[in-house]
Amino acid sequence: MSKKILVLGEVRDGSLRNVSFEAVAAAKAAAQGGEVVGVLVGQSVHSLGNDLIQHGADRVVTVEHVQLAQYTSDGYAQALLAVIQDVNPDGIIFGHTALGKDLAPKLAAKLNSGLISDVTAIEEAGGNIIFTRPIYSGKAFEKKMITDGLMFATIRPNNIAPLEKDESKTGDISSLQADIKDLRSIIKEVVQKASTGVDLSEAKVIVAGGRGVKSKEGFEPLKELAKVLGGAVGASRGACDADYCDYSLQIGQTGKVVTPDLYIACGISGAIQHLAGMSNSKVIVAINKDPEANIFNVADYGIVGDLFEVVPMLTEEFRKL
Ligand code: FAD
Repeated sequence: MSKKILVLGEVRDGSLRNVSFEAVAAAKAAAQGGEVVGVLVGQSVHSLGNDLIQHGADRVVTVEHVQLAQYTSDGYAQALLAVIQDVNPDGIIFGHTALGKDLAPKLAAKLNSGLISDVTAIEEAGGNIIFTRPIYSGKAFEKKMITDGLMFATIRPNNIAPLEKDESKTGDISSLQADIKDLRSIIKEVVQKASTGVDLSEAKVIVAGGRGVKSKEGFEPLKELAKVLGGAVGASRGACDADYCDYSLQIGQTGKVVTPDLYIACGISGAIQHLAGMSNSKVIVAINKDPEANIFNVADYGIVGDLFEVVPMLTEEFRKL
C-alpha cells in the first residue's frame, strides 16, 4: 500500500548534507509508490527545496523563522510538529546524525510513536517495509518492521545510496507559518572548530590513526594521505586519550560511526569498541606492525609494517594516479 513519507533535509553552512538525499532515497522505498515530502527548517532555507526535489522528493514544505536560525531541539520539534499536523504522514525519516539522534526520540515521544534508529537498509517484503539495523556494537543485524502507527526511522549516513539527481525535475515548494515560542534553550554563540576539510561522518575515504601514531606530529603523514585521497582523518580513542588529536575525530562505540568506501587503519589494534564504529566500511585496509593485531580480522587488505614507512609510500603511489 502506498504511503506518504516525510523527510527532514539537514542544512549545514547553507547547503543540504548528503544524508538528506539518502533519506529521500530511503523514503522513496518506504513510500512504495506513494508521496515523499521533504521538510526544510531554518531561517532562509526555501532556496534549497529544489535540491531535495531533484534528488527525488515530490514536494517540499519549509518552515522559516528567526528562532530557527540555529538548531535547538525545542524549536525544530515545534516546527516539525506543525508540518506533521499539516501533512499527516504515514512515516518520517531523518538522518542518524547528531541532529537526528537528538531530535527524533524527542519527536517520537511527543507523537507517542516508536522509532527505529540507525537503519542501514530498507527493503520491501510481502507488502511490508523491513528495516535493518546493527545491534551488539555491529556484531549482528536485526530486521524490524512497524505493524501499527507511524513509521519513524533514522538512517545511518553512507549506507543507503541517494537517487541520481534529475536537474529537470520540478515540484511544489510551500511555506508553512509555525508559531515558534517558549524555547527553553537559546544559542548565544557558535564557536566553530577550524575546518579539517571533509566531514568525517560523510567521508568516502577515512585515514584513521591509533596509539601507534605516537604523537600529534605522527598524524601529519596520515593527513597527507587523506588529502591525496580526498578523504578525512579519523582516530581511535587511544589516540584521542593520548592527546594526539581532537575527540571530534574519535571513531567507535563512544565516538562516530562511519561507513566509508575505504577505511585505512594505521597503528590501531582493533579493539571491539573501535570496530563498532568502522567495521561496516566497504573496504578496510589495516597497517600494523603486529601481525597478530585484531584489526587484521576485519581488514580486507592487511599490511604488516611500520606505518611511518608504509603511509608515505602509499601517498606517493596515490599521487601518481
Ligand atoms: P592500542 O590498542 O594501543 O594499539 C596500538 C596499535 O598500534 C598496536 O596494535 C601496535 O601494534 C600498533 N603500532 C604501534 N606502532 C606502530 C607503527 N609504527 N606502525 C604500525 N603499527 C604500530 N576505542 C575506540 O577507538 N573508539 C571508541 O569509541 C571506544 N570506546 C570505548 C568505550 C569503552 C566503554 C571502553 C572501555 C573503551 C573504549 N575504547 C574505544 C577504547 C578501546 O578499548 C581501546 O583501548 C582503543 O581503541 C585502543 O586504541 P588503539 O588501537 O589506538 O591503541
